[in-house]
Formats: sequence, C-alpha cells, structure tokens
Amino acid sequence: MTGSPAPVPDRATRIVVVGAGFAGFETVRRLLRHQRRSTDRPIRVTLISPDDFMLYTPLLPDVAGGLLDARFVAIPLAESLPGAELIAGRVDSVDFDGRTLQVRNREGAAETVEWERLVLTPGSVTRLFDIPGLAEHARGLKTATEALYLRDQMLEQIELAARETDPAVARARRTFVVVGASYAGTELTAQLRALADEAARHRGTVPDDVRFVLLDMADRVMPEVGEKLGDRVLEVLRGRGIDVRLGTTIDRLTAEAAELSDGTTIATRTVTWAAGVTASPLIQELGLPTEKGRLIVGADLSVPGDPDVFAAGDAAAVPDLAQRSGKGADDAITPPTAQHAVRQGKVVARNVIASIGVGTRKDYKHNDLGLVVDLGPRFAVANPVGVHLSGYPAKLVTRAYHLLALPRGANRMAVSAAYLGDAVFPRPLVSFGLVSADEASFPRSQGIPAPDSD
Ligand SMILES: Cc1cc2nc3c(=O)[nH]c(=O)nc-3n(C[C@H](O)[C@H](O)[C@H](O)COP(=O)(O)OP(=O)(O)OC[C@H]3O[C@@H](n4cnc5c(N)ncnc54)[C@H](O)[C@@H]3O)c2cc1C
Repeated sequence: MTGSPAPVPDRATRIVVVGAGFAGFETVRRLLRHQRRSTDRPIRVTLISPDDFMLYTPLLPDVAGGLLDARFVAIPLAESLPGAELIAGRVDSVDFDGRTLQVRNREGAAETVEWERLVLTPGSVTRLFDIPGLAEHARGLKTATEALYLRDQMLEQIELAARETDPAVARARRTFVVVGASYAGTELTAQLRALADEAARHRGTVPDDVRFVLLDMADRVMPEVGEKLGDRVLEVLRGRGIDVRLGTTIDRLTAEAAELSDGTTIATRTVTWAAGVTASPLIQELGLPTEKGRLIVGADLSVPGDPDVFAAGDAAAVPDLAQRSGKGADDAITPPTAQHAVRQGKVVARNVIASIGVGTRKDYKHNDLGLVVDLGPRFAVANPVGVHLSGYPAKLVTRAYHLLALPRGANRMAVSAAYLGDAVFPRPLVSFGLVSADEASFPRSQGIPAPDSD
C-alpha cells in the first residue's frame, strides 16, 4: 500500500501520522482539508499503518456473530484519504532528536521516514495478564482477523461436536468462554449466542446444548452503562442461557480447559480474552513518560517538552477536562473509546496546523455522550446523553448511531442491507476457515510481543 500523494511544494511541512484507527483517520481527514484549502502554508501528510483500511471496531462483535462481512467494517484508506501519502508498515522506533522514525513493512524491510510534525495514534492492544497459558490459548477481539477466527472456530467446533463419539469432548467443543463483561465481551457473547442458536435451529437440536460462560472480576456487567441498565443486561443474558459468573476470572488455561478462580474447571476449546486494553507496544519503545501505560500529553494533545509531537486516542493519557471541572477526579484521563479518539483527532489536526502558523491551539474537552451496546436479537442498551434506554428503542438508537458514525457511504449501505437481511432471513452459517489459530494469536494479529520473546 503506497498511496499517490497530491503534488506538494518542496517547502511543505511534512506531517507524519502513525496509526490509522479512529484518531489517526480523523486527524488525516482534517489535515487534508487544510492541504486542499491553504496554499501559503502547504503541508505534506503521511499516514503509516500496517493495514490499508481503518477498522470500525465497535461492529466487530457483529462480524464474529456472522451478521456482517468483515469488509463492511473496513474503510479503505486510499479511497477515503485522497492526497495523503500512505505507507504500509509498523513503526518500530522514533528518533526525536533526528526527527525520523523507522518503519518495518510486512516483509521485514526497514525504511527511515523524516517528519517535522509527528502525531502518534497507534491505539491499544488487548491487555494480557500473567496467567499461565493465557497468551498461548486465548484469542482476542481487536482485529478483523480475530473476529473471523472466532466465527469460524465456533461453527467448526459445533460441527465437530456433532460427529464426536466421546460426550465429554463433544461438550467441551460446544462450550465457549468469554472473559470480560465490559461492552466488547458482552456484545461478543450475545452475538455468538445468536449464531449458535441459528446453528441449533438448523440442526434441530436444543440451543442449550451450546454453552456460553461469561466471566468478569467485577461484581457487575458493563459498569459503563450504570447499575440499572447493567442489571437489565444481566437478566437478558441469563435469560438466553448464558452462564454469567461475576467476581471470577481464569487462573490457568490449557488447550482443553480453563481453571477458574472460583475453583471450578471448564472443559473448552475456545476462550476469548476481552478483559481490557493497554497502549500499543510502540508507546513503551519511545522512552517518554507514560501514565497507566499511555503516553502523557497536555490538554492540547502535545507531548510536554516537544510541541511538534502530538498523541491521541487509546495510546495517549489525555487529561479529561470535562471530568476534572465536574464531579470527576482531578487527575482523570479520558477513557479509551472511539468517541474520544475521533474528537481528539479533530483537535490534534487543528493544533498541528496551529503549530505551523495557521489558527490557534485549542485544549481538548468533551463531555461523554454515553454508550450504545447491541446485544443481539431484539435487544440493546444505550444511554445517549444520560437517557437510559433498553430493548427496541435502544436497538434503533444503536443501529442508527453506528450507521451515522461509519465514515463511508458504501460501508453504511452494506451494513444497512445486512441489518435488513437479518430481520428477514436466518443468519448465514458460513465458516470459510481462512484464518488459522496461529494467525489469530496475539503476536500475529495484534503485534503483541510473544511471552517468551523479550
Ligand atoms: C470489540 C470492540 C468494540 C468496541 N466498541 C466501542 C463502542 O461501541 N464505542 C466506543 O466509543 N468505543 C468502542 N471500542 C473502543 C474503540 O475501538 C477504541 O477506543 C478506538 O479504536 C481507539 O481509537 P484509536 O485511534 O486510538 O486506536 P485504534 O482504532 O486501535 O487504531 C490504532 C491503529 O494504529 C495501528 N498501529 C498500532 N501500532 C502501530 C505501529 N507501531 N505503527 C503503525 N501503526 C500502528 C493499528 O494497526 C490501528 O490501525 C470498541 C473496541 C473493541 C475492540
């Protein structure tokens, strides 16, 4: 992926953005607007990303649940960001004195890229704990690769269980464990349950034959939506036969079983770990101060001591001015959500442009607008601007929100068509089997260093 940048004069300021997620994509989109308008302060915009698309992660559970195609949630960069220079690869290191960085492409070749302004938006990866067997045997839900793997793995295990002669092995194959009852893990469990129910209908078997266990160390599901909606979610999940165990996590994992902190052991071949995120490994390589693993930035999103370097999104510890000036703690930082990442992207672009002499810098301040959570057939919860909704009204708000937030018309159309189809037709029971367990492992799918490689 090397895009054809628009011709820019030699004196153009080179701005390099690292990572094409919510924050990086929005930053580049805004910078390109300036590029098109301003001739007296020209800029050259370079975007470095391992993928040639921006991934709309909030709909990954729908991909895992067989409701959406992975391409529907992937926004092609070349088409969406015309005028940007696109470099396919991962940034390994940054030289702040020399104003360069090192990019490694898929084949391992390194390239040095010069920058005059740098925007770091490499996002986050799944947070792994020091639990024996976790990194080897669990899989995450942060990438399209992982979502496709989970869909195929579940359908394949259900198929294999049907031909299995040992009832204990068949039961293990039909048992799916998800760790993390925040929105990602809960949405995933609900969507996989819906797909498993479709498989049961098709086979004429009892849906309860397929067992889902959802674990969380907290004493509530989805603390983000408040106690009342969280209780409602718990009731709906349990009503669908999902075994929700709170105050419980995994102590040890093997290829065939999960040993839980409540002293029980669950025989299973499929464990998804969705228990939180931590900043991209790149942040630790920079040698700059961090807070909770995220790069410390000021309220204008620049790195203290280097006004030409900026960071935003999940990778940055951004002061949450809305919380600090309200009821929140004095040291609050913004939570790692797409909602903040997009809005920070807008502010970063403005402040980068201000740093070359156009306009003024602005501090980032945003009041959280709430969360929308789709929980499979006929149910969702949402708390837009503090209004608590559940059931059909929440479903409507949730789907409308995602359709509006998707940054490309063709993707919106494809997702709308899939939702309409879902209302009329059964979910397609299709597993392509194109993603191997190894490809979906944390090092390969998310770039998290393998446990034994230091
Ligand atoms: C399943 C799921 C559901 C979610 N649902 C919601 C929701 O409903 N609402 C909400 O607000 N948030 C939701 N989130 C959280 C949201 O996805 C993140 O907060 C958001 O993606 C953060 O945006 P970002 O730009 O900081 O990082 P990301 O979107 O993660 O993008 C980072 C990009 O940087 C790239 N990158 C990483 N390292 C490097 C490197 N070294 N060099 C170059 N590029 C690199 C990555 O490949 C990626 O493309 C969800 C997340 C998940 C996983």
